[in-house]
Amino acid sequence: MSRFVHNLIEMGVTCSHQISGCTVKEVEEVVRYAGDFRLPDHYLAFLSLMGHGAGQLFRGTSIYYPEPLELNDYAREFAEDDDPDLVTEGRFFFAHHQGYQLYYFDSQHDGVFMHSEGEGQARLIAVDFMRLLQQEATCQAGASVTGYTGKECECAGTSR
Ligand SMILES: [Zn+2]
Repeated sequence: MSRFVHNLIEMGVTCSHQISGCTVKEVEEVVRYAGDFRLPDHYLAFLSLMGHGAGQLFRGTSIYYPEPLELNDYAREFAEDDDPDLVTEGRFFFAHHQGYQLYYFDSQHDGVFMHSEGEGQARLIAVDFMRLLQQEATCQAGASVTGYTGKECECAGTSR
């Protein structure tokens, strides 16, 4: 995972100053909240290293701490009130777009899935969490054609 962080900086997705991890206590909080659900190791490493943010990685996606601590209750309410197609049992929801596209892990599968309201069937979006991170990094690196300018960081890109 530390090599992934190195690559993120190399690819211009983030500046080293913008990478902020969760404390041990915060990671434990997420694990406790997940209860019987065994969270993927790569996801826990992601929280430790980047749980509070990593520049443009997952820009537009609500994934950073404390998002996962609220999302599972939200998903259960959402399933009850708005979207009967949404199954919440045996799943851990860890991110969302605008509240209607939900990313989750499934206890029976290594993959990462997305449920979109009204679509019925969930989609497999990555074979595992590490692959999701790599896809997202590639996507955000491609999004900034000129590469990272450092504008979003206090150092203004003068040092990485
Ligand atoms: Zn910086």
